[in-house]
Amino acid sequence: MCRNMSPLEKAVQFHGHICPGLLKGVRVAEFAQQFLEVEPDYDEELVAIVEHDSCGVDAIQAVLGCTFGKGNLIFKDYGKQVYTIASREKNRAIRVYEKYGVLKDPAFDRFRELNRQGVLTADEEAERENLRGVLFEIIMTRPFEDMFDYREVSVDIPSRARIYPTVQCVVCEEGVMEPRAVETDQGLVCPDCLNANGGGGNV
Ligand SMILES: [Zn+2]
Ligand SMILES: [Zn+2]
Repeated sequence: MCRNMSPLEKAVQFHGHICPGLLKGVRVAEFAQQFLEVEPDYDEELVAIVEHDSCGVDAIQAVLGCTFGKGNLIFKDYGKQVYTIASREKNRAIRVYEKYGVLKDPAFDRFRELNRQGVLTADEEAERENLRGVLFEIIMTRPFEDMFDYREVSVDIPSRARIYPTVQCVVCEEGVMEPRAVETDQGLVCPDCLNANGGGGNV
């Protein structure tokens, strides 16, 4: 990814579209970075723990560099707009959550309604683009504290991702990360084949 893109540009490029959720994620990512006084992640200096898996998480990945692939993006499926960003070097963490019901502008409801509708007339399409601009303005210019609460927290920062050897599954013969393979009478079996067996497969 190009080094001199702005955080917002990085997020939009990564996510593919501009939406309220992504923009809120950009605000959170930028705020956390300033608060912790850190640079975007290069090699797991930062860890993000997110409690939802919607648009805003892509901003965390694109802006802060805490990604699924590097193993420093941890997803807890709580359905809450909460982000905890931790720095190993600073040994500090910030927990940010979106205040309940704070973005209750009718523009948000109308934008969601148009998105749900799917097929739009030319007028509705224009209306949606106009609303996108309104929402952009609201989210990107409002004081952070109006939209989010945050506090410093202490978290046990998970150790850096480990690289494990690959072993071969005796059933499908595909490689599988060693700690995921299960020892059976026939030998090591991957979780996929093990599940298939549970459902009447051929292990
Ligand atoms: Zn989105
Ligand atoms: Zn297998």
